[in-house]
Amino acid sequence: MTTRGSSSVSDVVDLLVELIANACVNDGTPDSGGELRSVRTLQRFFRAEGTVIEPHPGRASVVYRIAGTDPEAPALALLPHLDVVPASSEGWTYPPFSATRADGMVWGRGAVDMLNVTAAMASVFRRYLDGDAEPLPGDLVFAAVADEEAGGAFGAEHLVTRHWDLVRCEFLLTEVAAPPFRTSERVVVPVTVAEKGPAWRRLRAHGATGHASQPYGSRNALLPVAGAVARLGDARSPVAITDEWVRFVDGIPLDAEIRAGLVDPDRVDETIDRIAQDDPDLARWAHACTHLTVAPTMLHAGAKANVIPDDAEGHVDVRTLPGQEHADVDDHFRKVLGPTLRDELEIEPMLEFPATGSVPEGPLWDAIGDAVERVTGARHLVASMTPVTTDARFFRARGVTAYGVGMFDDSVTFGEMLGMFHGVDERVSERSVELTAALLSDVVAAFGDRIRTHS
Ligand SMILES: [Zn+2]
Repeated sequence: MTTRGSSSVSDVVDLLVELIANACVNDGTPDSGGELRSVRTLQRFFRAEGTVIEPHPGRASVVYRIAGTDPEAPALALLPHLDVVPASSEGWTYPPFSATRADGMVWGRGAVDMLNVTAAMASVFRRYLDGDAEPLPGDLVFAAVADEEAGGAFGAEHLVTRHWDLVRCEFLLTEVAAPPFRTSERVVVPVTVAEKGPAWRRLRAHGATGHASQPYGSRNALLPVAGAVARLGDARSPVAITDEWVRFVDGIPLDAEIRAGLVDPDRVDETIDRIAQDDPDLARWAHACTHLTVAPTMLHAGAKANVIPDDAEGHVDVRTLPGQEHADVDDHFRKVLGPTLRDELEIEPMLEFPATGSVPEGPLWDAIGDAVERVTGARHLVASMTPVTTDARFFRARGVTAYGVGMFDDSVTFGEMLGMFHGVDERVSERSVELTAALLSDVVAAFGDRIRTHS
């Protein structure tokens, strides 16, 4: 059975449907996004205005803060984002912004990144706002933000740098929530505690313009840039087996040989190739978690087919692991490009943030364990890393402990869900949205209990 999204926002799935249908598509330009639409939806859901921060027309975030009972106790913030990446209808079973409910699933752009969690967090927070849950010792903050998908300048970064009093916290829940690893004996819930750092590079070359009918002796700016991106794309990227990765591989159910191969720098590439035969999404993710990744993404040169270009530019997406410095990126580029190409190119940093992480211990970690134990009957958590950049980094830079966690039924595996981030047929089961809301509700309550018993 298929139904279109309704406009009521009575429960968590209705809220998800409305957030998807709002189509807050962030294409990286200031006038895109339109997150104010979803701020209005949340204001109706909460029946409360909150504090709206709108640094650019339409690019709104909304913050609610409930005072705790003990001014000394640490604050917990829920930080979902409201924007989504663009989607064309091509290849989708249902149009990406129709927010179609069919066969127990909600389909649409944002279903897993991350409007499912946005809706779940809102439903948890509403119980505290309405006085239906016992207040926490510390403040409880809900901040639904704009612009996560394009760097956060109109969202989390703006709030942290300009409105810290509003979002101030010691503990944070945000991205990424992913399905558990299931075997017949165990359900292991991944908790995102770390993320890679972007270290994007711009390559530029200058030459001399001329008639393309007579290329002899010309200085064509396109050639060194094209040569460089081809080499960078083909080169084996450097392996780094981090402590985070070893801990993750130890924590998930795996065949013993695969497990050993994944933490051995000399065997990790062949092991990933083996995983790829069954689960290409998981393989791609495992590769990203064990390598400095390098992906050329853009190339600009020339104005006309018969004119030698005197300027060319290439963009390369590079991501570092915890412990890798930006000097390691420069080193890799030097080795791959060799002296001749390097001399012809200007290489400059674009987006640069270090990898960030929070230790998997302390009251929020313990509270997640308490909640997972209640839901699954056992305390199997595994700390995981995400290759993507999230709003957690702005908070971790201020010393905040930040994690991402959710709960999913078995309709989609960990690997399949990773493939849906920014992909086609993004979807989530209604049951998973309800499970995530229930888990997060338990996490918040257990966090309060943990703080009470330790103070
Ligand atoms: Zn996201």
